[in-house]
Amino acid sequence: MLFVSSWLDSFEDMEFETLAVHAGHATDPTTGAVTPPLVLSTTFERDPQNNPLGAYVYSRSENPNRLALEEAFTAMEGGAASAAFASGQAATMSVLHALSTGDHLIAPTDIYYGTRAQADVLYARWGLQASFVDTTDLDQIKAALRPSTKLIWIETPSNPRLHITDIAAVAELAHRHGAVLACDNTWATPLLTRPFEFGADLVMHSTTKYFGGHSDVLSGCIVAREQNEFFERIRTFQIQGGAVASPFDCWLLLRSLPTMPARVQIQSQNAAKLAEALSHNPRLSKVHYPGLPTHPGHAIAARQMKSFGGMLSIEVAGGRETALAVAGRVQIFKRATSLGGVESLLEHRATIEGPNSTTPDNLLRLSIGLEHADDLLADLLQALD
Ligand SMILES: *Cc1c(COP(=O)(O)O)cnc(C)c1O
Repeated sequence: MLFVSSWLDSFEDMEFETLAVHAGHATDPTTGAVTPPLVLSTTFERDPQNNPLGAYVYSRSENPNRLALEEAFTAMEGGAASAAFASGQAATMSVLHALSTGDHLIAPTDIYYGTRAQADVLYARWGLQASFVDTTDLDQIKAALRPSTKLIWIETPSNPRLHITDIAAVAELAHRHGAVLACDNTWATPLLTRPFEFGADLVMHSTTKYFGGHSDVLSGCIVAREQNEFFERIRTFQIQGGAVASPFDCWLLLRSLPTMPARVQIQSQNAAKLAEALSHNPRLSKVHYPGLPTHPGHAIAARQMKSFGGMLSIEVAGGRETALAVAGRVQIFKRATSLGGVESLLEHRATIEGPNSTTPDNLLRLSIGLEHADDLLADLLQALD
């Protein structure tokens, strides 16, 4: 069984939308099936001479659905290799695990709270050191560099305040220092930003979000610009650590990839309409959306993003209680955490992040779905009234 589409020897000439449909989607030669069969077998038989009958031995090491998915991730980010994980957090952990005791990393203050928890709680006990700075300010990154700095981690747009970090500028700083630059590209997706084009070394995704797109599969991936020794450590963590994505999760994701560009394009258009319409609303004290010309990162976002994404955050005038009351009145938006699905979600972010949250108490984070923008706007306006 051969699911990896080696017949497509060059993805480089294809536009992104074409890649999304075809990378990792080779026809199954044994049946002619156009959609790949789901291979649940954990083990694969050998012939009388003890040679594997096919290309597979044991599914933690290799599974056809996973290899096909990894091929698609690699092609879509324009990298050299990728590793699919059971969650975004497992993907992040593989990168931290590739560092050594005593190594130092720099990451944003406005970082996904789970990433921060890994660096602060899990890996501090292993002797990893971390500095959290405002990565939109290059001077702060420079000041935080140490001889032991091996990794700079960025997230752009950031969660939940949509800060924009200049990927090319940070890549240059990282490389001058001999450090690896990893970019959490979950919010932008490779449709809008391809961090390798700006010099990043690794791209991380919670594919739970836009790649999956239907709020029904937990998963993550790391894509590498070069298949080097650092990436091999990540691969070892994936396979020897057993942090692999299950065959069914891989199958679901592969089914979702072809529609990702279309979904993200509409979600991004909807979010831009809402951000614009809400930007002068007197019941809001702030609208965080990089597509607004007033956003401090707008110029950089315009340079490194094709459009400005499906996420926005609003700050409700009046504080925590008013924000919670607004959240309580929405009817189309679902009150739930996470993002990137076909349905619009709204959450009071500080509640989700818990006691160590630095998110303003009046902030509501919106993940914009595929509903009509007018219905979403009407829902928010009635909730704000
Ligand atoms: C959700 C998310 C993660 C964590 O991914 P999981 O799939 O939940 O483990 C990491 N980074 C960002 C930006 C996210 O939104």
